[in-house]
Amino acid sequence: MRILKIQTLRGPNYWSIRRHKLIVMRLDLENLAETPSNEIPGFYEGLVEALPSLEGHYCSPGCRGGFLMRVKEGTMMGHIVEHVALELQELAGMHVGFGRTRETATPGIYQVVIEYLNEEAGRYAGRAAVRLCQSIVDRGRYPKAELEQDIQDLKDFWRDASLGPSTEAIVKEAEKRGIPWMSLPARFLIQLGYGVNQKRMQATMTDNTGILGVELACDKEATKRILAATGVPVPRGTVINFLDDLEEAIEHVGGYPIVIKPVDGNHGRGITIDIRTWEEAEAGYEAARQVSRSIIVERYYVGRDHRVLVVDGKVVAVAERVPAHVIGNGRSSIAELIEETNLDPNRGEGHDNVLTKIELDRSSYQLLERQGYTLNSVPPKGTICFLRATANLSTGGSAVDRTDEIHPENVWLAQRVVKIIGLDIAGLDIVTTDISRPLRDVDGVIVEVNAAPGFRMHVAPSIGIPRNVAGAVMDMLFPNEQSSQIPILSVTGTNGKTTTTRLLAHIYKQTGKVVGYTTTDGTYIGDYLVEAGDNTGPQSAHVILQDPTVEVAVLESARGGILRSGLGFEAANVGVVLNVAADHLGIGDIDTIDQLANLKSVVAEAVFPDGYAVLNADDRRVAAMSEKTKANIAYFTMNPDSELVRKHIQKGGVAAVYENGYLSIVKGDWTHRIERAENIPLTMGGRAPFMIANALAASLAAFVQNVTIEQIRAGLRTFRASVSQTPGRMNLFNLGKYHALVDYAHNPASYEALGAFVRNWTTGQRIGVLGGPGDRRDEDFITLGKLSADIFDYIIVKEDDDTRGRPRGSAATLISQGITQVKPDCRFESILDETQAINKALDMAPDNSLVVILPESVNRAIKLIKLRGVVNEEIQPQ
Ligand code: ATP
Ligand code: ATP
Ligand code: MG
Ligand code: MG
Repeated sequence: MRILKIQTLRGPNYWSIRRHKLIVMRLDLENLAETPSNEIPGFYEGLVEALPSLEGHYCSPGCRGGFLMRVKEGTMMGHIVEHVALELQELAGMHVGFGRTRETATPGIYQVVIEYLNEEAGRYAGRAAVRLCQSIVDRGRYPKAELEQDIQDLKDFWRDASLGPSTEAIVKEAEKRGIPWMSLPARFLIQLGYGVNQKRMQATMTDNTGILGVELACDKEATKRILAATGVPVPRGTVINFLDDLEEAIEHVGGYPIVIKPVDGNHGRGITIDIRTWEEAEAGYEAARQVSRSIIVERYYVGRDHRVLVVDGKVVAVAERVPAHVIGNGRSSIAELIEETNLDPNRGEGHDNVLTKIELDRSSYQLLERQGYTLNSVPPKGTICFLRATANLSTGGSAVDRTDEIHPENVWLAQRVVKIIGLDIAGLDIVTTDISRPLRDVDGVIVEVNAAPGFRMHVAPSIGIPRNVAGAVMDMLFPNEQSSQIPILSVTGTNGKTTTTRLLAHIYKQTGKVVGYTTTDGTYIGDYLVEAGDNTGPQSAHVILQDPTVEVAVLESARGGILRSGLGFEAANVGVVLNVAADHLGIGDIDTIDQLANLKSVVAEAVFPDGYAVLNADDRRVAAMSEKTKANIAYFTMNPDSELVRKHIQKGGVAAVYENGYLSIVKGDWTHRIERAENIPLTMGGRAPFMIANALAASLAAFVQNVTIEQIRAGLRTFRASVSQTPGRMNLFNLGKYHALVDYAHNPASYEALGAFVRNWTTGQRIGVLGGPGDRRDEDFITLGKLSADIFDYIIVKEDDDTRGRPRGSAATLISQGITQVKPDCRFESILDETQAINKALDMAPDNSLVVILPESVNRAIKLIKLRGVVNEEIQPQ
């Protein structure tokens, strides 16, 4: 077996609209191509021995053991690789269930599709599955040690990629609410929502979190001063910078017991509490000194440690933090009890799990001593033995939910304190003997205010009810369902995508909104180019969706991007499908028009249920997509008598129709005439029918998004097929005696569309300069030849500079064959070099003729034309 290609899909795709995270592996079974599993001696037994848990895979029989039954009876290796790859991820703790295996048009070559949670793990699982199966085929077994290593590696990928527990809670909540999120490439930033409606977070800081509030909270002494001045109970204390001042400071706070801590520490670092002797105080000073220059000396308040979480001015959770401890069982020593406690799978290193492993430090031994223990003591059954003085989770502490117990006055106080400090999300550390009583009744204090408080003690307390604190954050950032989104309009089809995308963006600009759009020529925001290039894939979509200035996204979604990585967004508000025609067949295992239609249908299907699929009623494969999408349907048609559209309107649907020379929106009994085709420059005075179709699609897409008829009309009237707005799409140049047209048509359907316009050129000769990209099939070139023979009076066949692997001259020969097949007497010649071919055509052009150039490089073609002195760049509306 040999892996030919591995692709990672990240959005709605050819295989599934709902499952976005898929690995597609193109697998050559080689010598196993004709050998089902039952014909490989010992394979079944070897597989069961290596992965007995495959028993749990139902597969087509639909029962436990179903898949293994298929292996026993005989199934192809691609299918087995799929199940093994899923099971390996499962064994590493990643729950994935979706898989598909299909043979391609090339016998023996399969596409194996597997779900993943982590991209790298998914790709690894695919490769490991091939290795495992091959080993069982060759040797009857897969070594246990290797399997263990595979699973360990998979676990490592999963762990390394995991977000912190607070971020995890936030993105999970976002997903639950359908709020899109993505990781930005620096500073652990997470983007929630799209375009202008996005919010950013970094752990539990949001872009509403003020820098002044954060800096104040980070300075414990300043916080205390501000709070003390407003009558909030805070520990009595002072700040010193020299050891010499320590004695006086202790006196100042009223003597022992005291606490010594760094002014700007966190996670309990450098803190010593309950100091009762001068020796301890000196040691405490040194410890704090390691963390900070300035040192706080304050009174030690007896009580339990509480964390009160305030989000958007409201207390949303309260947890009591219990310092790391073990509970005696009457048999084990303290050392043994710690070891046992740390075996808990919930305890990880640092912040990566619900709890953290207990580690001892200097204060631990002191604490044990005070309790009368050493590490070897065996505490009696049921006694609690504390191991750390402070209760931070990151030093092995645990949490008990107390949200329902906090006294209303303490709620009021906490909310007021957070307002005073000025934070949208804050965690208050409160020391009190009883949180259910007002602080001042029990001499409780607010020890500090934390910016960016951790969520893990609230979402996963060791005891008590987990609180959905991330929900409160989402409520604050996105008060209603829509507030994280911007309208996304996605456009696909075989021909006319770029034109329609640009026109739609132009129409939308009439609403005054900032429109971001991606096309084959580049990515644009408003009137400016962000990045040139063929930007029709998901990365370019992300550039637009991540941009904080963009209010509306119009995205050209081409086949290549959908096939390679899936759509770059979960669902659109409007999905436009213009047409499906033969093009690029045979590339990427899309061999038939129906497969191509299935691929384009992703755009119609990945639409919100309350959104619209805008479909071409005149193209049967596109019209049929209405069956597959859950969204509303809107049709456009060039045929005012379309039966399909008539029925659709009868049922209350909306459509765009070309009738009596007008582009009109039809809904119920109403026909809103938008504009006469003649007045729409893009349609070349109404003479280019396919452009009318594109304009109908764009108008309809805008209309269902509540753009007004007036705005649509203004857009249609002012959008010109000029070099500046749509380079390479029907750019017509008046050269005085004759005209030249530059266009990108490169497949049969677009040739025919273009032909409809060229045939309308009745004033003189029609000369064509044409060729096609080398990666098409032989028969495609012959077809192009045949079609052009019917359109032009004279043809110059040329080739692209980049032949895409084809021998030079081969494409031209095939086109020439096509020409002579339909019109043996057709006048044509072959000039392979594009520049020479264009110049020849311009040189020979008789008066009143039209030279149609279908170039590889639009810029070069336009330059060559302009050298001849252009009179007028485009046909103006009549
Ligand atoms: P974190 O980052 O976890 O909030 P920190 O390093 O910022 O911790 P503090 O919150 O100031 O440090 O102190 C840690 C813990 O020590 C407090 O939550 C509290 O339990 C205890 N503590 C601190 N100061 C006092 C005090 N004056 N009296 C009693 N306990 C105190
Ligand atoms: P690409 O796949 O190269 O990105 P595209 O789908 O974006 O193409 P456009 O760039 O808008 O299409 O148009 C390319 C050419 O296709 C046009 O110049 C024209 O010849 C032809 N064309 C445009 N619209 C249609 C249509 N609705 N039907 C058929 N042909 C069309
Ligand atoms: Mg604290
Ligand atoms: Mg395009």
